Amino acid sequence: MRMEQCPNCDKPTGHKRALGWGTFFAVILTGGLWLIAIPWYDLRCIVCGAPIAPHGALNLFLTLIAALIGIMTLTNVFFVFYSYYF
Ligand SMILES: [Zn+2]
Repeated sequence: MRMEQCPNCDKPTGHKRALGWGTFFAVILTGGLWLIAIPWYDLRCIVCGAPIAPHGALNLFLTLIAALIGIMTLTNVFFVFYSYYF
């Protein structure tokens, strides 16, 4: 957690990344590859939830890349198992 000036609360508050169940399931579904995207999560004020220093378009772009890599990995794993068993 980082102490930063929150533009919304107008005072120094604690900021951390909001990792919830969505993140948890994304990590499971992508076989752990979603962990790559976590450093790009916005730091959010623990009092009001407002993000500081948002990455905007870059954040979205990198998240999509991570998701695509995850989907391709899952597809590969599926077809390897499929061709092995059938
Ligand atoms: Zn705040």
